[in-house]
Amino acid sequence: MRLIRSGDASNREKVFKRLDLFFLSALRSRLRLLALAMLLLAGCQSIPPKEAGNFRKPDLVEITRLDPSIRLDIRYATTNNFLHRPVYRQARAFLQRPAAEALARVNASLKSKGYGLLVFDGYRPWSVTKIFWDMASEEERKIGFVANPQKGSRHNRACAVDLSLYDLRTGSEVAMPGGYDEFSERAFPKYAGGSEKARATRDLLREAMEAEGFTVYESEWWHFDYRNWREYPILNVPFEALPEQP
Ligand SMILES: [Zn+2]
Repeated sequence: MRLIRSGDASNREKVFKRLDLFFLSALRSRLRLLALAMLLLAGCQSIPPKEAGNFRKPDLVEITRLDPSIRLDIRYATTNNFLHRPVYRQARAFLQRPAAEALARVNASLKSKGYGLLVFDGYRPWSVTKIFWDMASEEERKIGFVANPQKGSRHNRACAVDLSLYDLRTGSEVAMPGGYDEFSERAFPKYAGGSEKARATRDLLREAMEAEGFTVYESEWWHFDYRNWREYPILNVPFEALPEQP
């Protein structure tokens, strides 16, 4: 009898424990939902940081309108990016006019060497920088793989461009020591590994860009900033609001 009662008690305890777990997990999933809703709400209400100072007047130019032989592979308009989902509604690339004109000169200078520019990203609206930050891991934030939206990304000022080269003869993207947006030591412009040819091609891109006033980012061989990037304000205009230029 005692045994039965004790069995009853332990069964009841198990049931209560199961119920506790059930309510706990229900509470947890509700809290997760709430957190997500708050994040989305905050995202909708977020605005770029206010910056003091005299900035140049923005003059965004669509790169391929200036030079149609510059090719685009806008990864953030596809699932082929670190978030595995598109964050741009349109596959377009813009830069401030002086940067875009300098880029066209770089492209022209590479023609005799058998290469053309392949652009992955140019101007990035601030709201997309905010999405990158919200979706990034703690480590990606810490090492600066994503820009803090409170400071804005250099891409928000439309003088930064992510790019590689394509072979004019085959039309194919060239091999570089590491891939675009690759989260490894191969991303460094001074990475000494990989094939000699890939390193030479990476260095050729850098030399051609530097000759026109661009500077490579110290931890990404594909990222270049145009000389006056600090003089432009952070922008938050989506691509679809930018006119198709003639
Ligand atoms: Zn970049």
